[in-house]
Amino acid sequence: MVNAFIGLGSNLDNPKGHVRQALEDLKQLPQSQLLLASKLYLSKPVGPQDQDDFVNAVVLLATELEPLALLDELQSIEQQHQRVRERHWGPRTLDLDLLLFADQTIRNSRLTVPHAELSRRDFVIGPLLELCPELVLPNGTPLQQLLQQCPIDGLICIEA
Ligand code: ATP
Ligand code: CA
Ligand code: CA
Repeated sequence: MVNAFIGLGSNLDNPKGHVRQALEDLKQLPQSQLLLASKLYLSKPVGPQDQDDFVNAVVLLATELEPLALLDELQSIEQQHQRVRERHWGPRTLDLDLLLFADQTIRNSRLTVPHAELSRRDFVIGPLLELCPELVLPNGTPLQQLLQQCPIDGLICIEA
């Protein structure tokens, strides 16, 4: 079993409902156990601004799945939520990003881990800090250090 952090996001068609249901879906993942789930947060969209705010959360899983098998499972949950890919960074019912997988650095055509934008997104750093304040990234950077370049003061916690 290794630890994996997953980022959840939704801004379409009852976003809180999609995030809550996704938490249930993640509990059902094979060869995995959901260990921790953050509160829900509200964030401004990345990219196009003519869309609703996002509801975000982060979970910690223990899993025996390989990274690409885990990505397959995450994408299958997105499909169950009728995710339609339209424009880049456009509105979506559910987005599940693999943020961290143990202390691994992965770069292949389907997967970049740690997630490429992790250190620039308050809606990822905030919930990660909530779950694991002492977290250190695979490159040795303590998560807390990212706050200097990416403050989380604007992040709104909407629900426990
Ligand atoms: P961003 O990655 O900037 O958050 P996005 O979530 O909108 O953007 P998607 O359209 O959901 O991007 O995903 C595009 C592709 O990104 C996926 O098909 C997947 O293969 C790839 N990808 C690369 N690294 C990751 C990762 N760490 N987690 C999830 N998908 C990833
Ligand atoms: Ca994303
Ligand atoms: Ca994604």
